[in-house]
Amino acid sequence: MEAPAVFTGVDVYQRSFDPQEYLKEFYTLSDSQGQPNTFLMENLRILFKMFSLDGLRGDTLIDVGCGPTIYQLLSACERFQEIIALDYTDQNRRELEKWLKNEPGAFDWKPVVEYVCELEGDREKWAEKQEKVRKKVRQVLKCDVTKANPTDPVSLPPADCIVSTLCLEAACKDLDTFRSALKHIGALVKPGGHLVMVTVLRETYYAFNKQVFSCLRLEKNMVEEAVEGAGFDVKFSEVQTYGPGDIRTDCEAVLSLVARKRDG
Ligand code: SAH
Repeated sequence: MEAPAVFTGVDVYQRSFDPQEYLKEFYTLSDSQGQPNTFLMENLRILFKMFSLDGLRGDTLIDVGCGPTIYQLLSACERFQEIIALDYTDQNRRELEKWLKNEPGAFDWKPVVEYVCELEGDREKWAEKQEKVRKKVRQVLKCDVTKANPTDPVSLPPADCIVSTLCLEAACKDLDTFRSALKHIGALVKPGGHLVMVTVLRETYYAFNKQVFSCLRLEKNMVEEAVEGAGFDVKFSEVQTYGPGDIRTDCEAVLSLVARKRDG
């Protein structure tokens, strides 16, 4: 498999991204052969670690490019009171709302929630955590990270923190677009607030449900420089590497980082 000839833009997401298939493919704890989903488990572990750092707390959190997923909010919801989730694609926001409202047919996040509760010390607290996420996510809004105000025509008050997982590298066709997108989403945070990011490195595509999506091939220093260029200081960063052999993607590593927005 190889990357699409033309970088897949928002119209392709809107037309072809099937949230249920995406969730089935990437968000079960073990695959159909019973192999553990180490990619997901590592991301959950690192999110727990990042959202345990000093200073990572406050009133408001914005999740940029949430897709149909909630795993990125499971540790975060212990540190923030109100969450706003943003994504471009209508069907992804709808799928997320289905789970938030506990509607029939919503994805079963229980195994993932249990896993995070175990990391946090008490596996039995999964139902409580699910309720916490459902209560704290106050709005699910459309956004486009390539726009100066990603939530235009809505203007959000600056938040204490933003989290973004696996979004910008999928949304940005080149490094310039990536750098501007970081500035756009960086403007959604207060000075002194934080950015929490999980980004794949050296990936050019990911595929599921017979659809291939482009990914901007990034190196660690490119991401960190773009984050610094958007007015943040990197406080924490960690790389997990993945061997070849996954037919769904050519991802080689994942960079997780926390950065603090400079004052003024
Ligand atoms: N955060 C989720 C979803 C990642 S998939 C996770 O960790 O699994 C990439 C997401 O980026 C999709 O939900 C897609 O709709 C969104 N996206 C793509 N282009 C975008 C854009 N220009 N602005 C905002 N979101 C975008």
